[in-house]
Amino acid sequence: MKPAVIAHRGASGYLPEHTRPAKVLAHLLGADFIEQDVVATRDDELIVLHDIHLDTVTDVTIRYPDRARPDGRYYVRDFDLAEIRTLTAWERMKADGTAVYPGRYPARTGHYRVHTFLEELQLINRLNKATGRQAGIYPEIKSPAWHLEEGVDLSPLVLAQIREFDGAGDSNPVFVQCFDDSEVRRIKNDLRCRWPIVQLIGLNQWHEADTDYVEMVTPAGLARVAEVADGIGPHLSLLYELNQGKVAKTTLVSDAHDLGLIVHPYTFRSDDLPDGFSSLESLVRFCVVEQQIDGLFTDFADQVNAIIRAIESD
Ligand code: CA
Repeated sequence: MKPAVIAHRGASGYLPEHTRPAKVLAHLLGADFIEQDVVATRDDELIVLHDIHLDTVTDVTIRYPDRARPDGRYYVRDFDLAEIRTLTAWERMKADGTAVYPGRYPARTGHYRVHTFLEELQLINRLNKATGRQAGIYPEIKSPAWHLEEGVDLSPLVLAQIREFDGAGDSNPVFVQCFDDSEVRRIKNDLRCRWPIVQLIGLNQWHEADTDYVEMVTPAGLARVAEVADGIGPHLSLLYELNQGKVAKTTLVSDAHDLGLIVHPYTFRSDDLPDGFSSLESLVRFCVVEQQIDGLFTDFADQVNAIIRAIESD
């Protein structure tokens, strides 16, 4: 079965991530799913943004220079939606204002905006109807424990809005994703999430959640994930080891498959290849042909679709 191509933050290889044009382009490029990262504003509105901070992807430091916290960061949670709507969304920047991906959309240019989760769901619904091709949604509940400390319970709000997207009876495909393992358990058992759930797996040094990913990728850890989740979304580096420059697969994908978990690794980028791979094609072939992954997150949905078509015609 063709692996699901998930447009990571939209067609983010071509247009600033998580902007509406990036989502429209991802749909036109044939993405099977379009990803949303969901964060809450001060007035408990849900917006689509990768970080709980605004400063690496908007002009917030210019528009609201005195609104940083003591750590120097500008938090979504400190702004009302109406304020966030006044910001210009930019290609992702480093702390010094230069581009994270120099070959992509020029840094600090363009007239894009941040939008709400609901607006994005409505947009994808409209594109599905207009084109006759159904793209699914793939929302990520961002930093739920942090949001709770900030006074908002993010997961029930996200699930309620997905219900509106899915409520029309179109049965559009949905996956819900989260890095926090205790929240995944809660989403399944307490919040009765009716859509498939993907447990994201990162590296412990990111401090993305209070979750031990080293333990999670062991067979016992994966068995616990399989109690509540339908799949895993591991970082690509967990799928292989490098032995003197040669790539060798780990057992993660087969261990997960043995437990009935689907596997959707991230992130496939032709302009930022992981160590050991010389092309996007060799990376996709390694994961799709040798490891039989079920889907993948990519910034370049068109390039991955072309490679998958070539694999299918081999
Ligand atoms: Ca994400």
